[in-house]
Amino acid sequence: MRAVLFEDVGKLTYGDYPEPRLQDPGDAIVKVSTAAICGSDLHLIHGRVPGMRPHSVIGHEFVGEVVDVGSDVSKFKVGERVVGSFLVVCGRCWFCTRGEFNNCDQMWILGYGMFVGDLDGCQAEYVRMPVADWNLHAVDAALTDEQAVFAGDILTTGAYIAERARIRRGDSVAITGAGPVGLFTLMNVLTCSPSEVYMVDMAEDRLKLAEQIGAIPIDASKVNPVVEIQRLTDDRGADVVIECVGNPSALTTALNAARAGGTVAVIGVYTEMSYDLPLGEVWRRGLRLEMGGSCNVQAHWSHVLDHVKEGRIDPTVIISHTLPLDDALHGYDMFERREAMKVILKP
Ligand SMILES: [Zn+2]
Ligand SMILES: [Zn+2]
Repeated sequence: MRAVLFEDVGKLTYGDYPEPRLQDPGDAIVKVSTAAICGSDLHLIHGRVPGMRPHSVIGHEFVGEVVDVGSDVSKFKVGERVVGSFLVVCGRCWFCTRGEFNNCDQMWILGYGMFVGDLDGCQAEYVRMPVADWNLHAVDAALTDEQAVFAGDILTTGAYIAERARIRRGDSVAITGAGPVGLFTLMNVLTCSPSEVYMVDMAEDRLKLAEQIGAIPIDASKVNPVVEIQRLTDDRGADVVIECVGNPSALTTALNAARAGGTVAVIGVYTEMSYDLPLGEVWRRGLRLEMGGSCNVQAHWSHVLDHVKEGRIDPTVIISHTLPLDDALHGYDMFERREAMKVILKP
């Protein structure tokens, strides 16, 4: 089959790769009809995340058709259309049985290297999904691939952090970072009936998209976002701030933009080992700091797909490019240069 292959840090190729076969009774083989390039694929290419095996398939966001199932698979049959989770859970451990799939003892990630299961990814014609009963979800026939594909990763990430932030009806909410996760967080926050949502970023095109979706844009290259959020909230600060960037200065902005007694929920991915937390200040202002960790896909994909089906969320607005799989490397180049918001690949 044809696949996008990680060869080394900074080097992807496109070429032939052995077709996956069933290895365990819980496996399913899926013929991929749509895959997407994710910002976390770039972490592998930049070498920020170690462990990717040279000449292995990358990618963890996909929709496709089940073409083979192992003897333990009970929820899916050959021919069914499914979306896959980036997080590949065991479905049996203490955490999984409590519904905290993102804390699973196994914690594998599709197409993400030998420290997280050493599984081949989905930017290919076929993919093997272990423990298919828990890591695939049926896609309603009324939904297109494009409407469903993000339910296995960034759309549920938005739903997950919106839930962790415990937004109440009428709250003012600020979001830092209008990338794909920030925009999907915005869409999920809007389903919680906030009074306003402020979106902080420095890229004009991203802010414009956020505004179309329903946010009040704040361009941090032109104004101090903390001062601006205070000005817009009677000098209090936002009730809830959701940090979607994943760098220390964005966290500082988020802490300063929250009102006393407010919440700062963090879903941006941090690779720094430490951060100078202004402890006394955070304590004095009684901030609730909610660290998101990995998204709990399996707990949220059903209800995010309901939001999509019932028209409350349109995830397709973030898709900027749709390319054939054999043009994937071009897609990565555009994504890397930030010329593409989200690239969809069609095997
Ligand atoms: Zn992803
Ligand atoms: Zn588990």
